[in-house]
Amino acid sequence: MKICVLVKEVPDAAVEKRVDPNTKRLDRSGEKNLNPFDTHAIEAAMQVKEGGKADVEEVVAVTMGPESAVRALHKAVSLGADRSVHLTDSALEDSDVCATGYALAQVLKQEQPDLVLLGQQSDDGECYTIGAVVADHLQMPSLTQVIKMDVEDGKLRCERQAEYGYDTVEVELPAVISVGDAINEPRYPSLKAIMGAKKKPLDTKAIGDVDIEAGKVGAEGKSTSVLAIEPPPQKEAGQMIEDEDTDETVEKIVAWLEERKLLA
Ligand SMILES: Cc1cc2nc3c(=O)[nH]c(=O)nc-3n(C[C@H](O)[C@H](O)[C@H](O)COP(=O)(O)OP(=O)(O)OC[C@H]3O[C@@H](n4cnc5c(N)ncnc54)[C@H](O)[C@@H]3O)c2cc1C
Repeated sequence: MKICVLVKEVPDAAVEKRVDPNTKRLDRSGEKNLNPFDTHAIEAAMQVKEGGKADVEEVVAVTMGPESAVRALHKAVSLGADRSVHLTDSALEDSDVCATGYALAQVLKQEQPDLVLLGQQSDDGECYTIGAVVADHLQMPSLTQVIKMDVEDGKLRCERQAEYGYDTVEVELPAVISVGDAINEPRYPSLKAIMGAKKKPLDTKAIGDVDIEAGKVGAEGKSTSVLAIEPPPQKEAGQMIEDEDTDETVEKIVAWLEERKLLA
């Protein structure tokens, strides 16, 4: 069995999200890191590999991104992936979510995995959509928000987090699964694994290597357009209640809560 895990390089969580008003895109400059949601997908792959119920030959980390995205692949490998694939090409710049899903699916068609795992969302774009787009191109079943996953007789038995409880769903492999962040507690990479990550095999691919049609990616291949993008509104300053007289303070807090209908 072969597992491919889709991983993305995103701006570090400590970097404030900035919007470029001219391009209507996120400004992704500055410190970058492996998308934290994808560490749950890698951990899920490692648990299948180590769980003993399936014979996993290899776990392959796959990314589409600029040159710097190679660091996200090194991190993925330090967390357990056996090798990685980096799809990078100037023709991919300005790809929207549909083009990104198509391009990743083309890499996966070449890899022919039995299971594709993704994080639930990227920490920058937060479209929550790539899994569905990839599955559509690969014509594979797709589940989102999976928080428990067992491989049994070539099938996957999954629990999906739903609004009121859990759905238990069985899918045939190959399948595309987006895991929720409640699925596991990702491991920390060992120092040895961090040091060894750069020595693990890494294939760099351009669009021609995986039969991507240039007109279907980049600015030309966009099926969506961003009409407007705004920074979130500033939060209003909170109200401070000084505790000079405790009875009065409690009254003030209760009145504040009642006014907002927050007390049953
Ligand atoms: C009009 C438009 C133009 C854009 N132009 C650019 C641009 O020029 N440069 C740019 O960086 N972004 C650009 N984006 C954003 C980019 O298309 C999205 O980042 C991409 O579509 C993925 O969406 P997401 O990050 O919200 O993924 P989600 O659907 O939230 O991600 C879910 C999971 O998919 C996987 N995943 C997501 N992206 C990748 C990836 N690249 N490689 C591997 N796995 C991945 C991860 O496992 C992730 O956890 C543009 C978006 C739009 C709408």
